[in-house]
Amino acid sequence: MTESSPVRTTRPRQVRPRAEGWTQRVDAEGKPLLQFTAPKRGMPPVHLADLTPEQRVEKVKELGLPGFRAKQVEKHYFQHYTSDAAAMTDLPASGREELVAGLLPRLLTEVRRLETDRGDTIKFLWRLHDGALVESVLMRYPGRITLCVSSQAGCGMNCPFCATGQAGLTRNMSAAEIVEQVVRANAAIRAGELGPAEHADERVTNIVFMGMGEPLANYNRVMQAVRTMVDKDHGLGMSARGVTVSTVGLVPAINKLAAEDIPVTFALSLHAPDDHLRDEMIPINSRWKVDEALDAARGYFEKTGRRVSIEYALIKDMNDHAWRADLLATKLNERGRGWVHVNPIPLNPTPGSVWTASDKDVQREFVRRLNEAGIPTTLRDTRGKEIDGACGQLVATEEDRAVAASAAG
Ligand code: SF4
Repeated sequence: MTESSPVRTTRPRQVRPRAEGWTQRVDAEGKPLLQFTAPKRGMPPVHLADLTPEQRVEKVKELGLPGFRAKQVEKHYFQHYTSDAAAMTDLPASGREELVAGLLPRLLTEVRRLETDRGDTIKFLWRLHDGALVESVLMRYPGRITLCVSSQAGCGMNCPFCATGQAGLTRNMSAAEIVEQVVRANAAIRAGELGPAEHADERVTNIVFMGMGEPLANYNRVMQAVRTMVDKDHGLGMSARGVTVSTVGLVPAINKLAAEDIPVTFALSLHAPDDHLRDEMIPINSRWKVDEALDAARGYFEKTGRRVSIEYALIKDMNDHAWRADLLATKLNERGRGWVHVNPIPLNPTPGSVWTASDKDVQREFVRRLNEAGIPTTLRDTRGKEIDGACGQLVATEEDRAVAASAAG
């Protein structure tokens, strides 16, 4: 059988070789372990961004002030990016501290920050109130600023090539913990920390839910965060199109997302067009197969009219074969034209893993084949590679340090 045949059935390599000392965590039936429910852990204190505008008014009244003060606090938080009571001089001095403490409790403490030499990328490591660690990455591009946010501390999807997946799920993040990543990034931009501004009033224009966690496994809180991001009167007033919600393929949640009245950009992290390989690479594929995930993605396009993105990490000798590009193009074209865009991205390897990015000529050939088949395809850059860019790596490094420190102590 030739390399270009779409029906080659030789067994793929094991996704993480046992020689690395790694074994896939499995459930009682021997299938890769999937954690849909977070272990019971204390959620953070309730914050303004967890509440609807009506609930915020009620909360202000509970704290002993007239309801209209809620709007003032919203303005400080969503437009001035501050949680500092001292800066809110339009609030009455008496009761101000209590009001701000009650509405804007501290959610994220910056532990570390890594920056590229050019200063156009910052990776933040945040500690949550219970000590859990998460990351966000802020990237400046010509004409836009993108923030990659985390939606869970850890992740229960157990993808073997992903640093976050190795550690399992610690807990879901609250809506406010998700929104706070954006507010803190905006504060950093306003303070000039992301290099020279292109214009005054710069802020995050694009959000991608591609940090730690599977966003659709924390559906309600992620949607509350998205509503706050796009709310022009009581939130950050961002464009819904600028918000990308991604998933490894939780089909019922994709259908639910399609039924929401918020036209966010939807991205399916596919990484393999055939079940044979995807079963190993993306354990959720044992629940919902490639065709089901693609049907749901197509359904999203039909419901919203928004073109869907297919994310595809190119991993050397794993999923980067020419025949897989052809098979992907066939499966996408079978579902119509003009509904989808493919974003291959060379893998940012997990330290210690033998898996690495595809060679440049292989990347080019993969993209060429898809484009030739009529599927718009753009190779994405691996911004952040020089600062431990793969999701979960900064956390892994920090935890290694903590372990080393406690061993030394
Ligand atoms: S690749 Fe995404 S879904 Fe898979 S384990 Fe990592 S964070 Fe979770």
